[in-house]
Amino acid sequence: TEMAAPGGGDAIELGKRHLIQPWPYAGSVGAEARALIAEGDGIYITDNTGKRLIDGPAGMWCVNVGHRREELAKVMYDQAMALSYNTPWYTMNAPSAELAMRIAGHAPGDLSHVFYTTGGSSAVETALRFMQFYNNVRGRPEKKLILSRGGAYHGSTYLSASLNGRPRDRDWMDGADELVIKLSSPDPFRRPHGTSLAAFTDFLVDQFRDTVARVGADKIGAFVGEPVQASGGVVIPPDGYLKRIREICRDNDILYVSDEVVTGFGRLGHVFASGDVFGIDPDMITFAKGVTSGYFPLGGVIISERLLEELRRSNHPDAMFGHGLTYTSHPVGCAVALKNLDLLEEGVLAHAQAVAPYFQAQLKTLEDLPLVGEVRGAGLMACVECVADRESKDPLQLDKNVGKRIDAHCHELGLLVRPLINMCVMSPPLIITREQIDDMVGILREGIS
Ligand code: PLP
Repeated sequence: TEMAAPGGGDAIELGKRHLIQPWPYAGSVGAEARALIAEGDGIYITDNTGKRLIDGPAGMWCVNVGHRREELAKVMYDQAMALSYNTPWYTMNAPSAELAMRIAGHAPGDLSHVFYTTGGSSAVETALRFMQFYNNVRGRPEKKLILSRGGAYHGSTYLSASLNGRPRDRDWMDGADELVIKLSSPDPFRRPHGTSLAAFTDFLVDQFRDTVARVGADKIGAFVGEPVQASGGVVIPPDGYLKRIREICRDNDILYVSDEVVTGFGRLGHVFASGDVFGIDPDMITFAKGVTSGYFPLGGVIISERLLEELRRSNHPDAMFGHGLTYTSHPVGCAVALKNLDLLEEGVLAHAQAVAPYFQAQLKTLEDLPLVGEVRGAGLMACVECVADRESKDPLQLDKNVGKRIDAHCHELGLLVRPLINMCVMSPPLIITREQIDDMVGILREGIS
């Protein structure tokens, strides 16, 4: 077949001929190539036509400290020149150890040790394989089922994807369904008509408790949940819900895995939201994305000292956790993550906390548009949910591409939007200023109108 000349020709055409992008439809697989982004700077990206856009989703919820940070580029260069790679099997590098120490310092409870991965899916996969290993070593091989929820997104590897609960993601895909039990999404907007928030919370907690009782705690190994469901539409759980779920897990020896791939590293104004925002101390936290602000593919799991101590004291001290990735503890990734954490600690977190109320309040003004059913959010993540009818909240009668159409209008006007069927998710770089928030909301208003 014809070979494309590297760097030659129109990149969109090359993409159509040789690239498969995420979530393609069968009918256009390998033939669809979306907007070509050529440059980034601060909260802006520039497409191949030279059009500058506000990066509304911060890449994929990840460019937290913004594009083109010279400090980050420099540290990657310096680390690659000093040591670009070492095997994590029987050697170690200093950035990975220092980063683990600093991450553990920000984590709640007794989370003390970090296992690094290449991103979020592999972090969730690692947490689940660790749960399986942990229960095998403890002589509880039956305790392996995983609780997840509607609206969840945990990744695209086989087991992590099996937890996903968003509509359409699973329709055409296989998964380890025999290992997963799905519970309701804690989505207050979609609670049954006429139900109070308190009654809805009780329903969710009862459903969790009843499921554990029905299936048997001796069969359930872990609950995996995002503190705020991100790709499910920025679902803010009702007050007290996460704490009550955490208690049920503790009482039933079910490991609580808090998936902070999106909420971690500043999105909710703190390095981790589990403890600092929601007051819970999970058994494991998964992270990725913002840990390097997207400058390098890196993720990881933080694991509780209690679990590690149990393994050390087990009757099987020689049992091996047969799990590791070539790029576990990558020195360049860990070095850039350390610098990124410096930036967060030295001002970006404080800035995110300071502008978050303004960001939420300005987006909330869009609720006066007839198409908008609700604007909700926390920190610097928000969702504008469109409905056909505000009373029935019916999204089904809408053009299923309404999000894409809003995105297309906004693109014309200078804003990249993350469309999710009938929802538009906004999660800009955390360095966004009040003036830039005004620009963003102004464009969104015009695009939706
Ligand atoms: N967990 C959550 C909460 C996510 O939002 C994502 C990705 O969006 C993942 C896991 C998977 O991460 P990755 O795409 O880095 O594999």
